[in-house]
Amino acid sequence: MVNQDRLAGTFRDLVEIDSVSRKEGKIAAVICNMLKSMGAHVFVDDAGKKTGSNTGNIVAGFPGNMDEVQPLLLNAHIDTVQPGENIKVLFSDNTFRSDQTTILAADDKSAVAILLEALLVCKEQNVRHGPIELVFTICEEIGLLGAKHLDYSRITARYGYCVDATDVDGIVTRAPAANRLRFDLRGRDAHAGAAPEKGINAIQMAAKAIAGLTLGRIDEETTANIGVISGGKATNIVPDMVRVEGEVRSHDTEKLARETARIVEAFEHETATYKETSLSDDGLPDVEVSIQPDFPTLNVPEDHIVVQLAKKAALNKGHSLVCKKSGGGSDANIFAGKGILTGVLGTGMRDMHTVRESIRLDDMVKSAELVLEIIRVHAQGA
Ligand SMILES: [Zn+2]
Repeated sequence: MVNQDRLAGTFRDLVEIDSVSRKEGKIAAVICNMLKSMGAHVFVDDAGKKTGSNTGNIVAGFPGNMDEVQPLLLNAHIDTVQPGENIKVLFSDNTFRSDQTTILAADDKSAVAILLEALLVCKEQNVRHGPIELVFTICEEIGLLGAKHLDYSRITARYGYCVDATDVDGIVTRAPAANRLRFDLRGRDAHAGAAPEKGINAIQMAAKAIAGLTLGRIDEETTANIGVISGGKATNIVPDMVRVEGEVRSHDTEKLARETARIVEAFEHETATYKETSLSDDGLPDVEVSIQPDFPTLNVPEDHIVVQLAKKAALNKGHSLVCKKSGGGSDANIFAGKGILTGVLGTGMRDMHTVRESIRLDDMVKSAELVLEIIRVHAQGA
């Protein structure tokens, strides 16, 4: 059994330490001390240098007492979104909330508290378990940067669990891959009143390209979005530059490539058509295209040990666990790309990334019990 009061206390303590992305140093130090006092081998990697954070990712090894069991990876992220400073934790009706001037940071400190509690119980009750690799990542909220720059030479586990979702009766096994797109359209500047004929309006060109796109939900497993547009200097200047940024996501990598190509084609078509119909000898307009693969797909088969283990553990605890599909990426996508398959478990956190964020303590307890049972069942399977 997990210790409900201790779990609640750990959660509250963690929430009261500010840790917005790139400023996770303080909370990392506290977590490292806790891990060391629990007997873990603690290592902080150099991802801080690569991400601009004041700490790296934490990798903590618990050797366990059963060598023949495969190592298990357990992960949560320690950074938060804004507004995430000076969070005041309120607790009533079994539910944690903020005072609504900030987020609560249950995303993902509920998971950090849950993982720490599960391992404390293992130690206290001498639970037989195999090697456990706890990975606490930084900068998840700003593009999964911690996981992208994690020192994978420190990880031996080939599978495990990220704890970073809502549903305590679900495990996310499928999540899309994503591309980030950026278009720099170059037109030609000119005085808007005196010589507009000499100009090429980059904003209008971008508008035409965007107007012809299909955006939003493309099909059941594919989405596309144009999210940022910036350019222009003044109302009396024909704008010579505009930047358009967007993304495409799909559970199917072929569809991802196809939708990406369709959007690129729209922008290239617009500049090419302009050139064909005008007498321009300076190579304008043109478009510079940048396509950045953001994260790969997550696809854990239903018969994989990660799913089987979690389902059996849930059953032992008297509830069922359903496989779920997510529309968002998480550290699990990055791990999958590195050959480490992780399912994403829920903690009960709700309305994340808003000031209305909340979490029920009994959901946190249920989640911690599940993690603990997974550790137990995993050792029995050896
Ligand atoms: Zn999260």
